[in-house]
Amino acid sequence: MIDATIDAMTTASSQALPVLAATDIHAHYDDLQVLFGVSIEVREKEVVTIVGANGAGKTTTINAISGMGVRCTGKIEFCGADIGQMPAHGRAQAGLVHVPEGRKLFPFMTVQENIELGAYSTRARADRKATMEEVLTLLPRLKERLKQLAGTLSGGEQQMVAIGRGLIAKPRLLMLDEPTLGLAPKMVALVFETVDAIRSRGIPILLVEQNVKHCLNIADRAYVLENGRVVLEGPGKVLLADERLKAAY
Ligand code: ATP
Repeated sequence: MIDATIDAMTTASSQALPVLAATDIHAHYDDLQVLFGVSIEVREKEVVTIVGANGAGKTTTINAISGMGVRCTGKIEFCGADIGQMPAHGRAQAGLVHVPEGRKLFPFMTVQENIELGAYSTRARADRKATMEEVLTLLPRLKERLKQLAGTLSGGEQQMVAIGRGLIAKPRLLMLDEPTLGLAPKMVALVFETVDAIRSRGIPILLVEQNVKHCLNIADRAYVLENGRVVLEGPGKVLLADERLKAAY
C-alpha cells in the first residue's frame, strides 16, 4: 500500500516539467574544489530538498545555481534556457529567487521596506501592491508588523520577512537556504507550514536544510550531499525510511 502510494507520487513528480536542471556542477573556491559533478533537478510544483552534514556543499550548490560567489562549471538550465553564463542579477530577474542563509535583512528598515526591496525586477515592480497582498495572506503574522523595524522581530518573524522579500519578486523557483537555522521548534514548524502553503500556490521550492526529518517529510524529492557529491536521491518519504540515512542522521 505504502509502496503503491510512493510509486504514484514518483510517477506524478517525474511527469512534471523541469523548472531547473543543474547538471554535472563542479565548483571551486580558489584552488579548493567543493562540488564534484552535482546534478539537481526541480520540476513544476515540487518541493525539492538538499540535505547533508555541515560542509557537504549544500549552500555552495545553491550559490552556484544563483550565480553567486563561487566559480563553477557544468550546465544550468532554468525554465528551458541555459543560464550558466548569466550574471546573478539576470538570473534573479528571470525568476530564480534565492533567500540566503542568515536572512540578510536591513535591521533599521521596516518590515514593509525590507519586503518591498525584493520587488526590484521589472517583472515584479509593476505588480508589487497586489503581490504584497498575496505575501501577507501567506505570511499573516507580518500584517500587523509592517511598520516595525525588522531588527526588532524574533528570529522566526525575520525569516518570514526574508521569505516575503523572496515572494514579492514573483519567483518561478524559490530557493531557501537553511530557513529554520537557530529557530525555536514552534517557529520551525511554522516555516515548514509556510513552505507547504507556497507549494500549494504552485511555486516550486529548492530547500537546503539540516533539519533532515522535517524536510524529508515535506519534500516531494530529496538529494543527499556528502563531501560535494550526491550520494542518495529519491522521494522524501522513501529517503526518510532509508536505513543508511537513519544511521547518518
Ligand atoms: P553548512 O550547513 O555548514 O552551511 P554546507 O553543506 O552548506 O554546510 P558549504 O557552505 O557549501 O556547505 O561549504 C562546502 C565547503 O566549501 C566547506 O568545506 C566550506 O568550508 C567551503 N567553503 C564554503 N564557502 C567558502 C568560501 N567562501 N571560501 C572558501 N571555502 C568555502
